[in-house]
Order: sequence, then structure tokens, then C-alpha cells
Amino acid sequence: MPFSQKLLQLKEEVLAEAKPLFAHVDEVSEANTLKVLDAMRECHVSDAHFNTTSGYAYDDIGRGKVEELFAKVFGAERALVRTQFVSGTHALATVLFGILRPGDELVSLTGKPYDTMQTVIGYDNPSPGSLKEFGILYHELPMIDGKVDLAHIPDVITEKTKMVLIQRSRGYSMRSPLSIADIREITTAVKRVKPDCVCFVDNCYGEFVDTQEPVQAGADIMAGSLIKNPGGGIAPTGGYIAGKDKLVELASYRLTAPGMGDELGASLANNRLILQGFFLAPHVVAQAIKGALFAAGLFAKLGYRTLPLPTDVRGDIIQAIELDTPEKLIAFCGGIQKYSPVDSFATPEPWDMPGYADQVIMAAGTFVQGASIELSADGPMRAPYNVYLQGGLTFEHAVIGILGAAQAIEDLNTK
Ligand SMILES: *Cc1c(COP(=O)(O)O)cnc(C)c1O
Repeated sequence: MPFSQKLLQLKEEVLAEAKPLFAHVDEVSEANTLKVLDAMRECHVSDAHFNTTSGYAYDDIGRGKVEELFAKVFGAERALVRTQFVSGTHALATVLFGILRPGDELVSLTGKPYDTMQTVIGYDNPSPGSLKEFGILYHELPMIDGKVDLAHIPDVITEKTKMVLIQRSRGYSMRSPLSIADIREITTAVKRVKPDCVCFVDNCYGEFVDTQEPVQAGADIMAGSLIKNPGGGIAPTGGYIAGKDKLVELASYRLTAPGMGDELGASLANNRLILQGFFLAPHVVAQAIKGALFAAGLFAKLGYRTLPLPTDVRGDIIQAIELDTPEKLIAFCGGIQKYSPVDSFATPEPWDMPGYADQVIMAAGTFVQGASIELSADGPMRAPYNVYLQGGLTFEHAVIGILGAAQAIEDLNTK
């Protein structure tokens, strides 16, 4: 074993302590697997649905089946699941532009949104093509102590508020992710003030972490990425939108064109990859959460602040660890990269990234480019040098990668 005696000993302690926590993760995974299997039976998924199509792709039975299945599993009236979505941001932006009109107001209830969503909104300036440039107003309710400020929701929702944005995952911040119970509380508070206000959840990194999804907890519509949780590590690209029939229809006119909506769009990828990935997703998400729990336990024992703690209720698959120094952040990412299946011979370095104020370092030796359901770690080069770790298609790989990261930090002392 390329790891120190001390780390191997800690590994055994962490695994022993994690057993009851793992049992809960397994229960969620089993419940979600049953939910997917029941839906596959009810939808009559068959190998006739596996093929791809070309051209306009009217009556693409595979595409239709994938969307029927996603809607059923997520408890939504309708879903759009497309490889034409280039990323999660694209699916989220399609919802915003599909539903909001000039003069409408969007209110974020989870403070400052995820970095790429700020560009979509036109957060700092009405950047070309942004919501602000189209005359859509934006306000936000800052979070307090990492939680949604429920008491002040009535103050920020006005006549003009067409939609609220609720980001489930922490993104690159040390706030808490939202549980399904949190989302239910927030949507209830919004509907009490304005029953027709659209509750839109950015569900990235949240799918299958719980046995329910946000549209089953009062959200009207939600969106996410297929190279995160619901793609199961198999979907090669794409995104999804799921929710109320009329709202998903509006989004579909933005994805294609008014009048065309969801009736066109060649599958491009084999639908089998999306169906197989969706079938695997509950298990893969469980593998990633076990990896996150292992990382939280190990680095807590090594004396670092970790968020969430191993015993906290999880709302996403991200594990944040405060590493305190730039050297440790670089070493951590180097350790993850070294034990990746792809590009393991490369050494990650901090780099300037478009849209980020500080340099960012990223470890991602993934089969699907940028897929963060695969084991990956990244962080901005600023104090307190947080690393955000996520993914892991197998728990074994997560354990080895995390031990590799801890070993690389340990080796800094012997240099
Ligand atoms: C990943 C993510 C997105 C979308 O990012 P893409 O890289 O465009 O898929 C949006 N919001 C949150 C909270 C995310 O984690």
C-alpha cells in the first residue's frame, strides 16, 4: 500500500464509525433503485428505445420514453431530457428565459447564485444576452448562517416577482445545502405570500440524495446536468428540466423554437446510455456520498474543518474541507489526480478561469470531460483554501483517491 501506517489505521477507524451512516445511504439507494425499476416497468422501457435518430427526429420513441421515465421518477408532470443541453447552466438558463418576460422579477432565495448563473442573470452588469439585458429584474435574499432567511421571504416577494430561484447545492461556498424538508418549508412560505409565484429549484448535485425530489416538495420546476448525479456516470452529455406541464412546455420553446418545442431533436447519443445511466444513478450517487462521508471522517481526524460533518443530513454530494494553506490545496488535488483512471500522469496547477476572481485548481481525471459525478476536486486559490470534493463512480476509487490526497499532504512535511 502506498499509504502511511497512520493513514491506514485512520482509514479503519473511519470505516468502522461510518457503518451506521452507510446503512442509511444504502437504504436511500435501494428505495430510489426500486422507484426507477417500478417506473421502467410502468413505462414499458424496452430495447426498441435504445437507438439514436437523425434529422428533425419527429416521433423519436427513445427520446419520448426517456422523458416519460424522468418525469415519473422525479414525480413531475413533464420532463425535457436532451443531449442538446450543453451543460447544467444551459438547462437552468432555458427555464429562466423560457418563463420570464421583460418587466418580470426573479428573486434568489439562496443568496448569491452559482458562478455561471451570475453571468446568465447579468449579476454585476447586464452582460450581452443576460436576463438583465432583456429587462428582467433581479433581487436576492442573502442567507444567514448558511440558512435561508425564511422570516424575510414575505419582504422580498412583490407583485412583479414571477419566479424565485432556490439553489439546492452549496456550489462553491460554505453554506449548507438544502434538504427536501428545507425546500418544502421555503416553497410553502413563498406560496403563502404569492400562490402563482413559480418556485424554481437548481437541483444540480441533489438528485437521488434523498428519496424525494424538489418537485415533490412544492417546487414547480427544476433542472440539472446529466454529467452529474442523474447521468450515473454513463450519460455522455446533456441536461434535464422537470416540473409542471405548462412550465416545461414554455422552456421547450426556448430550447428549440416557439411552436416546435419538444417535438423535435435527434437523440444524438444512444438513448441506451441515458437509460442505463439513470438506472445506475441511485447506486452511483450512494457511492459518491459514501466517499464524501469517508473524506469528512478522515480529514476531521486529521484536524481539518469539514462541511458537512459526517453526521449532518446531506442535501448534495459535495464535501468541503478547509485545508488552510495553498500548498495543501495543491497537494490534495495532485493526490486525487494521481489516482484517477484518466490523465493520472498529469499534475494539476492553479490557473486563471473565465468568470472566477481567483485562480482555481482542479483535479479531474474523468472519462466524460468535466463530469463531476466522477471523482473530482477543485477549489479557488484563496483563504481558507477550501477544497470541494465530489463524485466517485465506485466507493473503492473514492477511498483510494482520498487516501492519495491525504498522503500527498502528509508528504509535504518530508519534502
Ligand atoms: C454544476 C452546477 C451548475 C451547472 O453547472 P454546469 O457546469 O453548467 O453543468 C449550476 N448550479 C450548481 C449549484 C451547480 O453545482
